Amino acid sequence: MHELGIVYHIIRDVENVARANGVSRVSGVTLLLGEVSGVVPDLLLDAWRWAADKKPITQGAELIVEPVEAVTHCETCGCDYATVEHGKTCPHCGSGETCLLQGREVMIKQIETPDEDPADAVPDGPSDVPDAVDAANPLRIA
Ligand SMILES: [Zn+2]
Repeated sequence: MHELGIVYHIIRDVENVARANGVSRVSGVTLLLGEVSGVVPDLLLDAWRWAADKKPITQGAELIVEPVEAVTHCETCGCDYATVEHGKTCPHCGSGETCLLQGREVMIKQIETPDEDPADAVPDGPSDVPDAVDAANPLRIA
């Protein structure tokens, strides 16, 4: 499964970045995903859920996929056009001398840690919520 291999790659990168920054938990990862990367976002998200929950550092972390539009450049007339619509042939001059500018990336854009918003990281159970939060939301106490 192609997507699972990619997810393992992402998790390894996340672990390295987290360790280098002294972070022990990650709450979210934003991934740039090119239109012609060949990766299916739905499969990637499924693989992520399965694999990320097995690692303490990424357990419960959310994967956010940010699509990147594929753009091709024509060497003959110098224009840029949408790759998905027109493929390798320039729609303006019909030339085949074209090259992909962007759209193949599978790249981590951002890693979030729960420290940035601790109250948000504990949606179920008041055990880890600071007292101030409980006092501010008295209706939540059954
Ligand atoms: Zn052209």
